Amino acid sequence: PKRTAVHARDIVEAQGLAQRRSLAKAITLLESTRTDHRAQADELLTALLPHSGKSLRLGISGVPGVGKSTFIEALGLYLIDKGHRVAVLAVDPSSSVSGGSILGDKTRMEQLSMHERAYIRPSPSSGTLGGVAEKTREAMLVCEAAGFDIVIVETVGVGQSETAVQGMSDMFVLMQLPNAGDDLQAIKKGVMELADLVVINKADIDAHAALRAEAQITSSLRLLGISGNPHDPHSDQYWHPQVLKISALQGQGLDAFWEAVTTFQRLQSANGLLASRRQHQALAWMWERIDAGLKQQFKNNPLVRGQLPAITAAVQSGQMAASTAARHLLAVLGSSAPAAPV
Ligand code: GDP
Repeated sequence: PKRTAVHARDIVEAQGLAQRRSLAKAITLLESTRTDHRAQADELLTALLPHSGKSLRLGISGVPGVGKSTFIEALGLYLIDKGHRVAVLAVDPSSSVSGGSILGDKTRMEQLSMHERAYIRPSPSSGTLGGVAEKTREAMLVCEAAGFDIVIVETVGVGQSETAVQGMSDMFVLMQLPNAGDDLQAIKKGVMELADLVVINKADIDAHAALRAEAQITSSLRLLGISGNPHDPHSDQYWHPQVLKISALQGQGLDAFWEAVTTFQRLQSANGLLASRRQHQALAWMWERIDAGLKQQFKNNPLVRGQLPAITAAVQSGQMAASTAARHLLAVLGSSAPAAPV
């Protein structure tokens, strides 16, 4: 008979994850929506967890066209040259709508994708941002267990996906174009606060514009109060967000970029912020998933479903306050919950 299920234990015991095919298989298992697959996937994650977490997790965001794939390809090859193994994952909540994916295009990162020390995986397309981010976060753990010591998670600079990627990376890099105004947008959206490093790409096109953008963003960071307090005697023990000019196309600025990343890693490891960031992320993640799971349970609950149309109508017609309706429905869910074990 055809074996359809992937057996988590087989994968782990064979230690075959270093091979691309078993890695892809494992991630496919994690992305499956089948209940029996989910059980295996959780078993796999638990088995892999002790072998995960040893990578540097780099989040990279920027609007379409800013040069993310050009940069990631150049950076990936640069890092492979230094002896690293690089995995590239993506969070693109729009991929399920558009049918495409920011990493689905085979022509992107052509050289890197062919390299045996690289692994590139397009964004899962499971609908909600929370769902997509969950799969990517799990794929990251699998890549780490498979020996990739650098995991890059790419996202487009729209909506909440940047927050999601920042929430799973050690260092969050924001890519910007060298024209004025873009940085203001990032500030408005509140993304600048998330950035550990801002990279101005395409500096080769207009060096003056890049310089201006660098100065503007640097002063914005200062305004936001996240570029460090020079009067703090311990200031040099902490990382302060920086701004760098690069040209991904010409491979310029890679050394400076990597130096910034390694400095970040050294400082934040020494002062303990890297470890606490990861702990915080894992717990935030757990609660985010609990929220999503509870909401799903709520919506699937037959008693709730039975009462929902009448209550929705009552709220719409102004007969019942929205908050009263919510309390009522939550009480319905609570009353139908299985009794706690004694
Ligand atoms: P993404 O959508 O953010 O992944 O952007 P791409 O990497 O696909 O780049 C979009 C376009 O910008 C492509 O035509 C690239 O060749 C070009 N590009 C990327 N980086 C640079 C750069 O540093 N300088 C110049 N001149 N063009 C670049």
